[in-house]
Amino acid sequence: MAGKRDYYEVLGVSKTATDEELKKAYRKLAKKYHPDANPDNKEEAEKKFKELNEAYETLSDPQKRRMYDQFGPDGPQGFGGAGGPFGGQNGYYSYTTSGFDGFGDFGDLGDIFSSFFGGGFGGRTSRTSNAPRKGADLNVHTDISFEESYLGTEKEIIITRNEKCSTCHGTGAKPGTSVVKCTMCNGTGQVKQVQNTILGQMQTTRTCTNCHGTGEIIKEPCESCRGKGTVRKQPKIKVKIPAGIDDGQTVVLRGEGEPGEKGGSNGDLYITVRVKRHSIFTRKGNTVFCEIPITITQASLGAELEIPLVNGTKEKYRIPDGTQTGTKFTIRNKGFKSVNSSAQGDLIFTVIVQTPKRLTKEQRDLLTQLAKTMNEQPPVKKRGIFG
Ligand SMILES: [Zn+2]
Ligand SMILES: [Zn+2]
Repeated sequence: MAGKRDYYEVLGVSKTATDEELKKAYRKLAKKYHPDANPDNKEEAEKKFKELNEAYETLSDPQKRRMYDQFGPDGPQGFGGAGGPFGGQNGYYSYTTSGFDGFGDFGDLGDIFSSFFGGGFGGRTSRTSNAPRKGADLNVHTDISFEESYLGTEKEIIITRNEKCSTCHGTGAKPGTSVVKCTMCNGTGQVKQVQNTILGQMQTTRTCTNCHGTGEIIKEPCESCRGKGTVRKQPKIKVKIPAGIDDGQTVVLRGEGEPGEKGGSNGDLYITVRVKRHSIFTRKGNTVFCEIPITITQASLGAELEIPLVNGTKEKYRIPDGTQTGTKFTIRNKGFKSVNSSAQGDLIFTVIVQTPKRLTKEQRDLLTQLAKTMNEQPPVKKRGIFG
């Protein structure tokens, strides 16, 4: 995936382009680079065209676009490669969908192309109901603790999806029987009709009514799946959540969505992470914030504080004498790790001076003595005068 051109660049639009702008740019370029429109330079056009489709497929899908903006074209580094729970078959954070294999199948782009080329381009058949189709994407969410988002975690989630029927191995036919080619459409799933009209002969195609577009006839359906070839399952899926993930961000498991049809690839599984609130810490970007209560003596004389960190440890931090309530101090690199770089945020704590509520007699006497030594109120700050 390395060395890929930026998708926004491919489409020649800005990063803030609206859906309408994307579509417009795509239509214009698709027309220009369509291989049928470039018979003299087909190879180069096919390459450009493929690149263009990939860019548009990613950016026109709000979820994929968000992932792309979040992680860049290669996804976050150093996470989810080999050794992940699914081996090499699944990459995390992948944007390429394989709905585009060669030029016979334009997948969901068919409607756009039909408007350029008057339906059916260059003599090839447009998308037919028995062409390979990518499975649907699935969306789920998972809740994790603040600490888990800080350290990264692995979750097991249960999803509901269709899976290939193990009795018939997905054919839909009862074991021992076979699926036969539909004779009405000769296995194409489509029936052509020629009509004579005042404008001349018109050829139309419609879905075969005998096989409902599948091109196949199942004589004896499999009993486990009633001929569908798939059964509803609730598999447990392991997902690695990278350290630094923020509330609302998404992890993608490629190929873990609904199964593809007719040899099409599986859909993807989008897991949106929800991070629970923490009793002490909050987060903004990769910075962690918390409030640390201190006493009036610590504030007046200075003190060495023990600051709790998100990973459960503590860090010593010396505040100077004369520290005012509300003062912020920064501990470098104790915030969240960035999911797509090696950067790490800071921890910023705000000290809150606690005024004592219940004093012993001794404490009260000491404070009274202190008050006498101060013998006057602090000067009132005047507004509008600086320096
Ligand atoms: Zn079956
Ligand atoms: Zn048929």
